[in-house]
Parts: sequence; C-alpha cells; structure tokens
Amino acid sequence: MTETQVAEVGTAETGMPDKLEFDVIVVGAGPAGLAAGTVCARAGLDTIIIERGRKPGTKNMMGGVLYTRPTAQVWPEFWKEAPLERCVIEQNQWIMTEDSVIKMGYRSPHFAEGVPNCFTVLRVKIDQYFAEQAEAAGALIINETKVDEVLQDDGHVVGVRTGRADGDVYAPVVILAEGVNPQLTCALGMQEDLKPDVAAVTVKEVLRLDPEIIEERFGLNEGEGATIEMFGAPTRGMLGTAFLYTNQNSLSLGLGVLLSEFAEIPDTPHDLLQELKRHPAVAPLIEGAEPAEYMAHLIPEGGYNKMPTLFGHGVMIAGDAAQLVNGLHREGSNHAILSGKTAAETAIDAHEKGNFSAQVLGHYRQRLAETAPTIADLRKYRKATKFMEHHPVLSVYPALAAWAFEQMLTVDDKTKRQKQWEIIKEALRRRKPWGMAWDAIDGGLSFI
Ligand SMILES: Cc1cc2nc3c(=O)[nH]c(=O)nc-3n(C[C@H](O)[C@H](O)[C@H](O)COP(=O)(O)OP(=O)(O)OC[C@H]3O[C@@H](n4cnc5c(N)ncnc54)[C@H](O)[C@@H]3O)c2cc1C
Repeated sequence: MTETQVAEVGTAETGMPDKLEFDVIVVGAGPAGLAAGTVCARAGLDTIIIERGRKPGTKNMMGGVLYTRPTAQVWPEFWKEAPLERCVIEQNQWIMTEDSVIKMGYRSPHFAEGVPNCFTVLRVKIDQYFAEQAEAAGALIINETKVDEVLQDDGHVVGVRTGRADGDVYAPVVILAEGVNPQLTCALGMQEDLKPDVAAVTVKEVLRLDPEIIEERFGLNEGEGATIEMFGAPTRGMLGTAFLYTNQNSLSLGLGVLLSEFAEIPDTPHDLLQELKRHPAVAPLIEGAEPAEYMAHLIPEGGYNKMPTLFGHGVMIAGDAAQLVNGLHREGSNHAILSGKTAAETAIDAHEKGNFSAQVLGHYRQRLAETAPTIADLRKYRKATKFMEHHPVLSVYPALAAWAFEQMLTVDDKTKRQKQWEIIKEALRRRKPWGMAWDAIDGGLSFI
C-alpha cells in the first residue's frame, strides 16, 4: 500500500473499501512507536505507523545516549550495523560555577566489551534505521501525516482520523506513542494537559569537529565516546542540566530547564546555551567547532506522579506520551522502547484472545512493571523533582563546594585546620544549619 492509496481510500472514485482497516495503529514513529510497530509486524499483525514528520527522526531530538541492552530487546545486535556515533566508555558529571568546575567521572573499557553499554546517536539517523527495521518486519509507515483525533465507538477506541482527505484509519487497538506533548492522550481524557512544572524546555547544538580533534581533546581512541553532564551554573541554578556528548565528527551541546523556572527569568534557552559555550571549561573543548544544527524540544518531567493510566478500551500509551522518562539518569529512549515493545506484546495477546477491552490491555502495565525497570525506577524518583525545586541543590551547594575546593587547594600561610573552620563558617553563612539538615533529611527521603 502506498501513501497515495491511503489518501484516496474512502472516496467513492477509488472503488476501494471505504474503511481502511489494520490490526494495529501506532501513532508516532519515535523509539516507542517504532519498537511497537516492529514487534507487532513481526508477529504477523497488519500494522500501520503514522508519523507527522517528513521522515522518522526529523521531528525528534535527544542528547543523545542510546542504551544497548533495552534497545537490543527489540532489535537484537543492532549495534553491529546501525548508524551509531561513538561507544561511550567515559561518563562525567561536572558541578560548575560561572568560571570553575568540580569534575567527577568514570571511565572503563568494560563499557565497550561484549554487549556495549551505550552509544551516542543522532536521532535523524538512528530513527530511520529503526524505521527500516519496522518496514522490513512488515509494518507500513506513513510519513507527513498528522493524527488529528482518536475515533471512538461506545467508549472504545476504534481508530484515528488523520489530516489527509478521507484519512480515517481503523483498528481494534491503537498505540499512542506521540511523544512529550500528548494531545491525543489528553483529548481522550487519559491525562492532564502539559503544565510548565512537568516539562523541561531543552535546546541543543550539533557542532562539527574533526574526529581526530575530538579524540585528542577527550582522550579517546577511534570509535570511543565520552559524555559530560553539567550541573549548577549552566542552568543558573535552576532545575535542569546541560550536556556535552561526543559524536563521530561532531559534538552535541545542550541544556534543559524546567519550563516553570525558565518563565521567571528574562533570558531564553538560547542565551544560556551561548553562555555555556563561553564557559572556560567548555570553550576549549568546542573551539573551532562549526554549528551544524540547532534544535529545541521538551522533555516530560512528570514522572511517576503524572503517569497516566497507560491503557483504556482499545488503546495503550507508550514512551514520552506516558511520561516514562527518568530525567535524573537521562533515560528516556530505553523506557520508550521497552514500553513500545510491551504494548505491542499486549496487542498481540489481545488479538489472540479477540478481546481489546481495558481488562485485557491492562496487562500492559502489569507486564511493563514485571519485565522492565521503567515503573520501579520512576516510582523510586517520584519525589525527586519536588525535592530539587525546594532545596538549593543546584545553586547554593555547587558554589559552596567550588569555594571549599579553592580554599583547600590554595597553599598559603593558613593551616589546614584554619581552612576547614573557614569552610564550615562559610557554609553556615550561605545556608542555615536547619536548612542543611532539612536538605539532607529530605534528600535521603526523596532519593533512597
Ligand atoms: C534534549 C534531550 C536530550 C535527551 N537525551 C536523552 C538521552 O541521552 N538518552 C535517552 O535515553 N533519552 C534522552 N532523551 C529523551 C528521549 O529523547 C525520549 O524519551 C524518547 O525520544 C521518547 O520516545 P517516544 O517515541 O516516546 O517519543 P518521540 O521520540 O518524541 O516520538 C514521538 C513521535 O510522534 C510523532 N507525533 C506526535 N504527535 C503526532 C500525531 N498527532 N500524529 C502523527 N505523529 C505524531 C512525532 O513527530 C514524533 O516523531 C532526551 C530528550 C531531549 C529533549
């Protein structure tokens, strides 16, 4: 079936059946939708994936680190042939002030052995590879087609209405993998509209740089990659992070901040990104790199507390549309893939039973909880965003820690004991004892 046929279906002139029917409709060709579509098609279900972008990946953005093991559950050994950037062997965390940085990191050759842990990727390439796999399995991908509405009959989802002329498509089960702004899911009443305190606005630049220069600057061998997550000054102490990842012949530099916090400052995300590029610890790493792409996107931050029901009569929700992102560990694509896969398995089951009710599709949530760390991890961090909002973890503490390091590492006429006392006094000047105690207790309660 071609795209043109889809547009024509339902018109009297074509003489074709006036109802375009599939076994499964997947909305959105991101990692969640493509995983769902691949698994359904492999099981022999007549599967259509509808994507509003020109091609899969063109509307998408991610830092991006792709985790191998979850991805391989849908596309085994994909790393042997997929268009990946670099195999990440070093992961760093930087705590920053305007002009200084405390660096922590872990580097290990084990990350590259056997099944490598993770790779840097560019979405436009990797999504198209996943799309090819879905098509090879038998799924039909229709690009440049927006789903405007979910069709229902007597409380059951029965299909979707696309923006194409006569573009209604029917299936007994619809998997909504529409990403961070889940308008269809909201229209079904399955989740609240996106609010500024549950989404981060992010911007990213891809900066072209010769592979040899990347390898020299980051201390890497050919094919090896490094990641840096940055906290504190890059987001001016607001709730968010910045990142710098090595690709094959480019760097991905970006940052994200909770929308509600951004709304309170006059600057734009672009301003903060330019500021980050001038930071003395970042500037030498990106020197001479040419901006090749600039993009902006949202990340869902609602987590466990805002997770929708995930299923209804004839419908399941996967990936970002269901808030399945663990921002603290920069994990989203893995949960998208695992939830897409699990929704697909549940759809296959429902077809075997011939029953698409919420009772049967409800096994999706149970299955996801039993087979993937997704729901347990989101639950573990369900208080994390609130904690970060109410404690100065990204403002007072980075500056204090940097000040303490500077005192202890500066050799002058003071004794080390004098310096320790000065650090304690300075800490108490910047944060009252009860404030620190509350930070520690609430931190323990929120993260452990
Ligand atoms: C800056 C940034 C950095 C990130 N870094 C990482 C990282 O390093 N590692 C990681 O694992 N995750 C990361 N993430 C998160 C990750 O990108 C997402 O969790 C993941 O892409 C979610 O996949 P998805 O398929 O649910 O949604 P998406 O990838 O957003 O795909 C949804 C698709 O649905 C389509 N669509 C939406 N509405 C409609 C409609 N009505 N009709 C038709 N099509 C529609 C969209 O065009 C899109 O292609 C990052 C995200 C951002 C923004």
